[in-house]
Amino acid sequence: TPVPTLTLNDGHTIPQLGFGVFKVEPEETQRIVSDALQVGYRHIDTAAIYGNEEGVGFALAASGISRADLFVTTKLWNDRQGTESAFDAFDESLEKLGLDYVDLYLIHWPTPAKDRYVESWKALEQIRESGRARSIGVSNFLVPHLDRLLIETDIVPAVNQIELHPAHQQRELTEFARAQGIAVEAWGPLGQGKYPLLEEPVVAVAAEAHGKTPAQVVIRWHLQTGNILFPKSNRRARMIENLDVFDFELSRTELATISSLERAGRVSSHPNDVN
Ligand code: NAD
Repeated sequence: TPVPTLTLNDGHTIPQLGFGVFKVEPEETQRIVSDALQVGYRHIDTAAIYGNEEGVGFALAASGISRADLFVTTKLWNDRQGTESAFDAFDESLEKLGLDYVDLYLIHWPTPAKDRYVESWKALEQIRESGRARSIGVSNFLVPHLDRLLIETDIVPAVNQIELHPAHQQRELTEFARAQGIAVEAWGPLGQGKYPLLEEPVVAVAAEAHGKTPAQVVIRWHLQTGNILFPKSNRRARMIENLDVFDFELSRTELATISSLERAGRVSSHPNDVN
C-alpha cells in the first residue's frame, strides 16, 4: 500500500510514515534497516548520536532502491552546534551515510543553555543553499525557540520533531508550529514502551472494532491528526504491522476518545534541560 506524502513548506514531499532507528545497535542496523526497506519503508529517521548512520548507509546502498524514492533524515548533535562545527558534523554524517545529500537535516535539541541554536540554524540555512540537505528543520524546539528562529533568521523550519503521542500531545506547540507552516513529526509515537499506551482500554476497543492491533490504532491516530511518524521496531513482523494501516479509518469519536488520553507529562527529558 502506498504511504501518503505530505508537502513541506519548501515544496519537498515527505512520506508521512517512516522507520526510526533510535537505539538500534550499530552492528544490527544494516540488517534491521534492510528489513524495513524490504517490507516497504522508504523514509528512515536517524541521527549522528545514534551511532548507526553507517549501518543505515550500507542498507540503503544494498537495497538497490533509487535515491529519489528514499527519504533520509539525520540530525546535528548538541556538542557540534555552531557554524564550522555544524558544517563538519554534517559532512561526517553524509560520509557515514554514503550519500551526497540528505532529504532532511535537523538540529537535534535546542540546548538553550548553550545559546547556539540560532547560529547553528544559520549554518543549516547554508547547507540547504548548497543542496546537500533538501530540507532543514529542528527537533525538540519549544515555542520560544521557534519564535527566535522566525524573528532572527531567514528560513522557516520545515519540521519540528517532538515527543508526541496520545498521552502527551503538546497541543499549544503543535498549533503554533502548524500556524507557521512547520510540519509536526512525532517521536516516541507509541510512547516508547515507557507509557502503557497500547494497553489503554479506549485503544483496545478501537482495535477490536476494526480488527487491527493497538499499535496500528495509535499509528492511525497520528496519521489522521496530520503527524509525520516513524515508529521503531527491530522485529520484521512489527515493521509489517506498523505499515499495514492504510485499510481502515478511525471515526471522529474514536479519534476524540484517544485524544482524551492526554496526561500532562512527557516520557523523556524537558528540552530546556538537555545539553
Ligand atoms: P516508539 O514510540 O516508536 O517506540 C518503539 C518501541 O515500541 C519499540 O522498541 C517496541 O518495543 C515497541 N513497538 C514497536 N512497534 C510495536 C508494535 N507493533 N506493537 C507493540 N509494540 C511495538 O519510540 P522511539 O523509537 O523512541 O521513536 C521513534 C523514532 O523517533 C526513533 O526511532 C527516532 O528515529 C525518533 N526519536 C527522536 C528523538 C528526538 O529527540 N528527536 C527522540 C526519540 C526518538
